[in-house]
Amino acid sequence: MQPEIQSVKALAELHARLRTCRLCLDAGHDVYPRAIFSGRSGAFIMIIGQAPGITEKEAGRPFNAGSGTRLFRWLADAGIDETWFRNTQYLTSVTKCYPGRSISGGGDRVPSRAEQTLCRPYLDQEIALIDPRMILPVGGLAISLFYPAGQPLTEIIGTQKQVHGRWVIPLPHPSGASRWHQQETNRERVRQAVALIDEHMRAILHDA
Ligand code: SF4
Repeated sequence: MQPEIQSVKALAELHARLRTCRLCLDAGHDVYPRAIFSGRSGAFIMIIGQAPGITEKEAGRPFNAGSGTRLFRWLADAGIDETWFRNTQYLTSVTKCYPGRSISGGGDRVPSRAEQTLCRPYLDQEIALIDPRMILPVGGLAISLFYPAGQPLTEIIGTQKQVHGRWVIPLPHPSGASRWHQQETNRERVRQAVALIDEHMRAILHDA
């Protein structure tokens, strides 16, 4: 079997396993099982968020609501069209099922370390099978996969690094509830990050 066909088949099998995954529930974690992700083989950009929210769970679409609108508004400045991205590129998250509201009531619960550990092999397989040239981790939890814990966003957003030959360009969480990206100095950092993405997009499209 040709390697591309093998990879398409392996990704389809992975997606089938994700759709029926109950690992967190079986381990006693309070999640709403319905793994949310989208994308296919051949994608060269992968967006990794924290975990789906309630509207993502209901619609079955990653970055479905206001956060997605803001995220794709940022990415439009790098020449990235939302419809094109959703049809051709890859969207996933650190954990893939809606974790519910936080006990404090201040937004959605951050997936526990145990849930992250249970879901991590899926993310590793997605990255291995998609083999993206550029990864955009969105929000602190996804960024922590690639940057040291505790490093402030002000030192991270607007930078890039290479990890296993892939460019990693972090973005802040685009939620309307977050004040971080609304501060002017941080807006400039987001613009710098988008400029980096734009540069890599041009190089990737040039090579295509
Ligand atoms: S979050 Fe991940 S590991 Fe947990 S049930 Fe959903 S798909 Fe499975």
